[in-house]
Amino acid sequence: MIRALLTIDDVSSKNTPAIVDYLAEKNIPVIMFAVGQWAQNYPDQLIYALKHGIIVGNHSYTHPNFSALSIEECKKEIDQNEEVLNSFYEKAGVERKYRPFRFPYGDKGGANKDAIQQYLREKGFDKVKDTQFDYPWWKEKGLDKDIDTLWTFDFAEYNIRPNSGFTIDDVMKRIYEKNPGDGAPLLVDESDHLLLLHAHDETDELAPGYYKIFIEELMKNGVSFVEPEFISL
Ligand SMILES: [Zn+2]
Repeated sequence: MIRALLTIDDVSSKNTPAIVDYLAEKNIPVIMFAVGQWAQNYPDQLIYALKHGIIVGNHSYTHPNFSALSIEECKKEIDQNEEVLNSFYEKAGVERKYRPFRFPYGDKGGANKDAIQQYLREKGFDKVKDTQFDYPWWKEKGLDKDIDTLWTFDFAEYNIRPNSGFTIDDVMKRIYEKNPGDGAPLLVDESDHLLLLHAHDETDELAPGYYKIFIEELMKNGVSFVEPEFISL
């Protein structure tokens, strides 16, 4: 069996409710990571996700590269989005039990990396369980000690853009890739994964229902979608 936790970044968007409905229909658990500004642009869509019991984590307020920011700016990005998310949880009438964090672009902040990790720890962010990953690089990169949520497999479907030449077929190739340049090969029996997908309306316009296509491909290959679990360090 291949066990995978699905995460969906860059909510909210117009297509967020359709994604929520699809995942509910298929009984697929998910963690969504919201960008504060985008949640404010699509408030009803975020509340829809929250009311459907989805854990929504912090993905910064404006989606910058953290390595381009000062430590104070990094903290502000995190805190501003915390305020936004807290108020959305309140509006949705849902208790906020878990607070995972994901860096935009997986950029951990360069020279400020340790200071940001320390800040995430102080602020009580929750670490997504990763003790099941036996990829040597996960520990070599110290990812087992980091609070933020990285991934083991990136669909990279955000590359489907006008004139990019990147298509659904390229995502399919990634799914079947045995020696990926980054992350871990997906379809290896008895492996565990953290999957990265995005809720981009732009992708839906060019590849309608892209998320269904990829998720169904995974199910066809025996991937089992697991519930989010958290650990404390
Ligand atoms: Zn993002």
